[in-house]
Amino acid sequence: MAEIKRLSESRDLTRIERIGAHSHIRGLGLDSSMEARDVSEGMVGQQPARKAAGLILKLIRDGKIAGRAILIAGQPGTGKTAIAMALAKSLGQETPFASMSASELFSLELSKTEALTQAFRRAIGVRIKEEAEIIEGEVVEISIDRPISSNGNPSSSNAAAKTGKLTLKTTDMETVYELGAKMIEALNKEKVQSGDVVALDKASGKVTKLGRSIGRSRDYDAVGPHTKFVRCPDGELQKRKEVVHCVTLHEIDVINSRTQGFLALFTGDTGEIRAEVREQIDTKVGEWREEGKAEIIPGVLFIDEVHMLDIECFSFLNRALENEMAPILVIATNRGITNIRGTNYKSPHGIPPDFLDRLLIITTQPYSEEEIRKILDIRCDEEEVEMSNDAKVLLTKIGVETSLRYAIHLITAAALACQKRKGKIVEIDDISRVYGLFLDVKRSTQYLMEYQSQYMFNEVPDEGDADE
Ligand code: ATP
Repeated sequence: MAEIKRLSESRDLTRIERIGAHSHIRGLGLDSSMEARDVSEGMVGQQPARKAAGLILKLIRDGKIAGRAILIAGQPGTGKTAIAMALAKSLGQETPFASMSASELFSLELSKTEALTQAFRRAIGVRIKEEAEIIEGEVVEISIDRPISSNGNPSSSNAAAKTGKLTLKTTDMETVYELGAKMIEALNKEKVQSGDVVALDKASGKVTKLGRSIGRSRDYDAVGPHTKFVRCPDGELQKRKEVVHCVTLHEIDVINSRTQGFLALFTGDTGEIRAEVREQIDTKVGEWREEGKAEIIPGVLFIDEVHMLDIECFSFLNRALENEMAPILVIATNRGITNIRGTNYKSPHGIPPDFLDRLLIITTQPYSEEEIRKILDIRCDEEEVEMSNDAKVLLTKIGVETSLRYAIHLITAAALACQKRKGKIVEIDDISRVYGLFLDVKRSTQYLMEYQSQYMFNEVPDEGDADE
């Protein structure tokens, strides 16, 4: 009984989809001339910053910048992380995007420089090209060895067949291929018959139906952008196709690091990777590049809360960006003029002046009431919360007076309050209820000022103290 219960519980769990803070963002929302649309791909307003990010995106795509650093600076909750996420989504699958918060460097078991090196290498992609051998031709005959069933007749099930033969007409001759079980399965799945023109990948057992023969061999169009034909000594026509794998340098490091092994890629527990391993990998990748087998794709490394980095980290970043394989570094902070961690000096955003000098700076601006309303609309859709117009007006007002993030948080809470009273649409009362239950920063501070004496380690001087 206990087993069954566990099963149904796990099924329920799979139905829960996590909605992240930025899950509504699908791109930068730019039009074809790189202008930021008002509301698009989940992004609202903040046009100059989005346009600037779009320009960076274009430069990355054209392979024109590497080793550059971009700072997104602005007040809390003005969409800095959202813009970085949008940039990541627009880059596409092949360009690596690694993201971290600067504070992570101080909580890992690794040294700060090792953690930063790993982050850098997670943001450098290697596109490895391999050639697969593909044979094409018109199917003349397929014969499949069927296992003999208990009554002495061949079994009718093809699935049990292990081997077979395929006679293909290539250019001007017929060739017989011995087939493995994998290829037989694929032939059955594709419903290949004689007269079909097929491509066979001998290594992977993949079968692709290219069309029907119209009498003469090779009267079909099957030459893709990466294919080239080679004539083999026996007159057989073979097609070679490029197979491309994309991995990051960090993945290659982990797989080749004998102490960790590839499973560390799943646990994230990679430990320190020895410098010799990295050197060997860089040399190997360098050789592949020279032979035209591999290409480096500089990706993006995003470091949030960058004011948490100390002077040693900045000096490391300065040097790491000089490397020819360096990714684009995007950093974000909401700090003004503050201490550079690890020194007694102050500087804008807590970033040392020599590093600041390297940066292209994008700023984000506070949102207007209308923009806050639009973001809240998008978040309600994302969280599948139905809310009355009046409730949204109130929530927008709360967003203007407190913060956008606080208002976004109230959506889920209000939806729960609504659920509790068995309602379907979130109304003003639900918003008021959760507004009363959960304090925003302003009210929380006010509360603390009133009740400060009841808390431990209180450092705010009493009014009496101030007079002294
Ligand atoms: P902080 O300085 O506190 O880290 P931030 O500037 O990085 O803040 P975000 O975390 O990006 O702010 O924004 C807060 C929330 O508002 C997120 O859920 C984000 O997705 C959303 N958001 C911010 N700006 C926009 C926007 N222009 N369009 C849509 N959603 C946005």
